[in-house]
Amino acid sequence: MSDPQCSRAGCRAAATARIDWRNPRIHTGERRKTWLACDEHLPFLRDYLTSRGFPVTTDSFLGEAAS
Ligand SMILES: [Zn+2]
Repeated sequence: MSDPQCSRAGCRAAATARIDWRNPRIHTGERRKTWLACDEHLPFLRDYLTSRGFPVTTDSFLGEAAS
């Protein structure tokens, strides 16, 4: 198993945060997606989602297995 990495395209930095989000148009019920982000790209990824009106929650990610 490889180390968790940032979800930003082309970024290989270790993830330090997780972003749980949902697209109300295609995700029904409690289904949601999880992205991982490094310190540098957390604001970018979060803004990308919130600018589209998606519900977003962020949390610290310390390397534990994401469910
Ligand atoms: Zn990154």
